[in-house]
Amino acid sequence: MTTSKSLSAMSAKLLPHRNSLEQASDTSPTSMNKNNLPEEVSHCSHSIAPAKVVRGERAWEESHQLIASICRSPLLLGRSIATAELRQGLLNNLRNLGLNTVSAELKHDCCEMDLKRINALALYNSCDGVIAAGGGKVLDAGKLLAHRLGIPCITVPLSAATCAGWTALANIYSPTGAFQRDQVLARCPHLMIFDHGLVRQAPPRTLASGIADAIAKWYEASVSNGSSNDGLIQQAVQMARVLRDQLLLDGPEALKDQNSLAWIRVAEACALTAGLIGGIGGSRCRTAAAHAVHNALTQLKDCHEVLHGEKVGYGILVQLRLEEIIGGHQLAGQARRQLIPFLKELDLPVNLEDLGLSNLSLHELHEVCQFACQQGSDLHQLPFPVNSSALLEALLGASDNGPVPVESTVTKRMAAS
Ligand SMILES: [Zn+2]
Repeated sequence: MTTSKSLSAMSAKLLPHRNSLEQASDTSPTSMNKNNLPEEVSHCSHSIAPAKVVRGERAWEESHQLIASICRSPLLLGRSIATAELRQGLLNNLRNLGLNTVSAELKHDCCEMDLKRINALALYNSCDGVIAAGGGKVLDAGKLLAHRLGIPCITVPLSAATCAGWTALANIYSPTGAFQRDQVLARCPHLMIFDHGLVRQAPPRTLASGIADAIAKWYEASVSNGSSNDGLIQQAVQMARVLRDQLLLDGPEALKDQNSLAWIRVAEACALTAGLIGGIGGSRCRTAAAHAVHNALTQLKDCHEVLHGEKVGYGILVQLRLEEIIGGHQLAGQARRQLIPFLKELDLPVNLEDLGLSNLSLHELHEVCQFACQQGSDLHQLPFPVNSSALLEALLGASDNGPVPVESTVTKRMAAS
């Protein structure tokens, strides 16, 4: 079992890249307001956490009365065939509680077409709450529906693949799964039920994906906010570092043994702590290049079967490669080379081939890069400008073991084709 002592010892020697609080408290030029405070700390609005979180082996059963106190006519939302039987059990429970429950399923990802249809269904049935039971896209859709209808949302994650059950944020996709935009919501869910028994039924691949998504918090938050003067952001960034270390230590054991304490720590780290970091850090402490790469990859049909965190994990390697190539950060290269074997151990993709994209043409890769580089993209959270040819270089060299080559990967690929 991991002790707090071993965690801190490990933390001290692992991946030194951006590891110090001194860097986080660097003072960079910031505009001041009339009270002589930096603009960034003068006013902030956060939705930090769900009003209540119930977690544990029988969290769903323990929450029955709480659910009944929040809504009497809930809409139970889900999606995949894999969770249909489980959701039928939840539906029976809710009806046995005397709740007038309506069940609905997403046909696609969290997309406007589905949202419109289910919104009408909820209105027709006078639903007074949404219970979203599923993966990240179901949870996002449930939160967004509740937000639009002005009714409470209860999230019941059925995997630890994302922290969507916690946050006040929803990603919106096209019906074919291409990322379109994210939307900030008025509040985090009223209640989050993280039932270990339910989450344990998800395929192990979802946990590995959740680990990659959660460790991205450190790489993204530290690069985009490492020099913030805001204490809460500094603390959120440091929490992201501790979260990363916990996952590096416990991740492999959690995947080997679902009945271990490591599994509980890792599942809760991915689904709860990662959300808390986003809540404390606020909108400026969320995503950077790793998620921008994810968003761009969702534009490819061939990538739709790849899970969110699987794309994000690869995106971390691309981000580190960019820091190495453009930022000239040798430590980013070291961090990337340490991360690759960890991702491989968890059976997570580390290059385009692993993502099933080895047959993409240079033209298609260019389109991915242009999407990631468009104005307003989180890619531009990096502290240096990135253009699409530099990004292409990083996409192709994400899993290269050595330092930045003299002859570029793009040149070699062009010569070979
Ligand atoms: Zn994510």
